Amino acid sequence: MIGTRPEAIKLAPVALALRREPGVQLTVCLSGQHPAMARDALTSFGIVPDAELALDATATTAGARFTDLHRAISALLDRQPQDRIIVQGDTSTALAGAIAGFHAGVPVAHVEAGLRTGNLAGPWPEEGYRRMIAPIADLHFAPTERARQNLLAEGVDPASVHLTGNTVVDALIAVRALIAKSPATAQRLADWRHDISGGKPIVLVTLHRRESHGSILTGVATALRDLAEEFRDYAFVLPVHPNPAVSGSIRSVLADQPNVRLLDPLGYEDFVYVMSAASLIVTDSGGVQEEAPTFGVPILVVRNESERPEAIAAGFAQLTGTEPDRILAAARDILQRGGKSDLRGKVNPFGDGTASDRIVRLLLARNDADAAADAAAEAIVVAPPDLAADLVRFVQ
Ligand code: UDP
Repeated sequence: MIGTRPEAIKLAPVALALRREPGVQLTVCLSGQHPAMARDALTSFGIVPDAELALDATATTAGARFTDLHRAISALLDRQPQDRIIVQGDTSTALAGAIAGFHAGVPVAHVEAGLRTGNLAGPWPEEGYRRMIAPIADLHFAPTERARQNLLAEGVDPASVHLTGNTVVDALIAVRALIAKSPATAQRLADWRHDISGGKPIVLVTLHRRESHGSILTGVATALRDLAEEFRDYAFVLPVHPNPAVSGSIRSVLADQPNVRLLDPLGYEDFVYVMSAASLIVTDSGGVQEEAPTFGVPILVVRNESERPEAIAAGFAQLTGTEPDRILAAARDILQRGGKSDLRGKVNPFGDGTASDRIVRLLLARNDADAAADAAAEAIVVAPPDLAADLVRFVQ
């Protein structure tokens, strides 16, 4: 069940691995939460959804949207009974899918389980949603050891929790392979990168978190404007999230800066390409924090807390908070040192690109205790060092 762009990106490798299994009949379903961005992201992997749910456009509050998603997913499970539902992360689609599965007696597998900030208000509603999925899922695929420990500390049955790595690393590798296979795509991306940056080194920015909407977002945008004025030799590239609460603040502060490029949301290949070429990333995104380490790009996380402290502990990310002065100081420090060079070759703490194969083996082994034990024993996350080097090479 897929609602948003990050769910599409992180479940695409699982869907591709399941499609390779002859005994599995897979239904890739878009819930209708962010259908255009989710559909676009699936296209990058050559996946066409098998089902798309119709939602009530008047359901705009978090509660009304959740109720509507639950209704639509329950109706789908009635029409097309399933043996299992797979949800990802912490969106309203993930929780509505889990609860709909629970009501219909369909076992729930949770991909990217166990992320926690410990603060129900941040991020809201995601922290609450992912915590609520845990007691009703029977398979929990934890991307890191820390996430596994979070679940165990909440009393989740250890036999149902598996350390797999994060499927986003698999997604990066799949996209890299697609680009490598097509010289025309690689050339298009190289030309496009030059076009958006004028050949300058790139600072890539993504902002979307609900808890920052309003004055916080305007403050972050102001810090970026000051940074762009100070570092005119850099191109600041911002694919702007379509939510009007985000695009309004960003455009009002940054629209007229000569070295700032405000773009529409990018297709996944394009985003991965520009990310891998960036000297610095400023973001409040969860997925971007997990992807950037693969390319050795430093990340400033403009949030007050992160459920992904692994990137910080491994030296890739800094949590700056949302105060403009702190963001400016941290960015200045990195740009004055020339960006990413220190981090190249370091290992991505989020995985080695085999998470989806592990997940599929664990899903298939569910009813076979020995196979499950074998699959679980292999679930250790180590990134081969040449992977990062290889990914960096493909854009340089
Ligand atoms: N992404 C993309 N195009 C863009 C911006 C982001 O494909 O213009 C991808 C990015 O690579 C990552 C995911 O979208 O995999 C992150 O989405 P987002 O930041 O919206 O959500 P979060 O990860 O914070 O839940």
